[in-house]
Amino acid sequence: MLKKILIANRGEIALRILRACKELNIKTVAVHSTIDRDLKHVLLADETVCIGPPVSIKSYLNIPSIISAAEITRSSAIHPGYGFLSENADFAEQVEKSGFIFIGPNSETIRLMGNKISAINTMIKLGIPCIPSSKDITNKNIFQNHIIAKKIGYPVIIKSSNSGGGKGIRIVYNPQNLESSIMITKLETKSSFSKNTLYIEKYLNNSRHIEIQILSDGQGNVICLGERDCSIQRKYQKILEEAPAPGFNKKIRKYIENKCIEACLAINYRGVGTFEFLYENEKFFFIEMNTRIQVEHTVSEMITGIDIVKTQLKIANFKLLNINPKKLKILGHAIECRINAEDSKNFFPSSGKITRFHAPGGFGVRWESHIYSGYSVPINYDSMIGKLICFGETRKIAIARMKNALTELIIDGIKTNINLQLNIINDINFKKGNININYLENFIKK
Ligand code: ADP
Repeated sequence: MLKKILIANRGEIALRILRACKELNIKTVAVHSTIDRDLKHVLLADETVCIGPPVSIKSYLNIPSIISAAEITRSSAIHPGYGFLSENADFAEQVEKSGFIFIGPNSETIRLMGNKISAINTMIKLGIPCIPSSKDITNKNIFQNHIIAKKIGYPVIIKSSNSGGGKGIRIVYNPQNLESSIMITKLETKSSFSKNTLYIEKYLNNSRHIEIQILSDGQGNVICLGERDCSIQRKYQKILEEAPAPGFNKKIRKYIENKCIEACLAINYRGVGTFEFLYENEKFFFIEMNTRIQVEHTVSEMITGIDIVKTQLKIANFKLLNINPKKLKILGHAIECRINAEDSKNFFPSSGKITRFHAPGGFGVRWESHIYSGYSVPINYDSMIGKLICFGETRKIAIARMKNALTELIIDGIKTNINLQLNIINDINFKKGNININYLENFIKK
């Protein structure tokens, strides 16, 4: 039974999880680093445990400290949130072995999907359309790699199989740059990702990032909450997401939803999950699966009315999914703007004290954030400090609400990307839905 949940994360997602637990009458334990004592969810949790110094490797990535905190607080389950240890199969395994419920799929599934090469191979077997890609090239010589890249067809992209957060990705436009690109990616990823293997993939330069949200109880019930378009990115990281994807119709949606549902049933997937695709010329190409809650889950919640985090907790508690897929409806359109503490010109993170804060409001406006006036944004973690989500019966209404909400939002004392988000929302191409993964780069050049 989920009596008490330890939240092994920080920031807005920790607060999101805490709120869901409170609604379900589940007690909460907030673990935090020394610099995070004043985080909103730490102040609101039933119990708190300091697990180490600010540097993540010694706190939010410190497996023994987190498991000890679960033991001393007699927690029944651990929610990993996103990032940090959320897709670390060894962590999930240790959580399970220590007698706690890991809120996510079992460690074997995480291991299978955590490696992008094995995820693609699994999906090919399950009938999911996948991106043309190679196997592990780490120990291949340059002649072999030239043959592989030529067969896939330039441009190609070099990727690290265990990477995340847009790191370890390098585009190669011609064979002359292949060797140096592999070398650099190898060096870059060596320090960040311990299980570092590289592979080559076809680079789809005009594609859109489309992903499918699924909820699956591992007991034969799977539902799909439609797609999200996450094409607006910087440094291969999303900054604005929306659902449904502009221009999508029921036929395209049903086709890919059914494929994902079949795959979940075939592997008996248990938990929430996202199938990530690139979409080009009306074709889907699977690139990876995320076995955790995602930052942008909110837009799917807004258009379906389903609380994904609460459903995730119920699934973790071995309850059956009791949502009738026939009754699922897309109620409108939702857009999420990630609010980052960063310089919008070079995307360098910004830190410091928030001297003045004012949250937006109104019909269809949702603000998910841990910040408050007087809160100090530390330099140690991801630059995202909040998510602004606007819902409307139509995309046009959602855009109009987002414009109002971004104008009302005030965060003084640090640099933020609020103005950049406002410029995107006002852009004619964005309004027309003319977006792909190169949108932001082209928009900034203008
Ligand atoms: P991460 O796991 O680090 O988030 P992903 O594999 O999900 O990395 O890719 C992140 C982004 O990088 C994608 O949304 C897309 O914009 C770009 N990208 C990744 N693979 C390709 C590809 N094969 N062709 C074009 N762009 C790609």
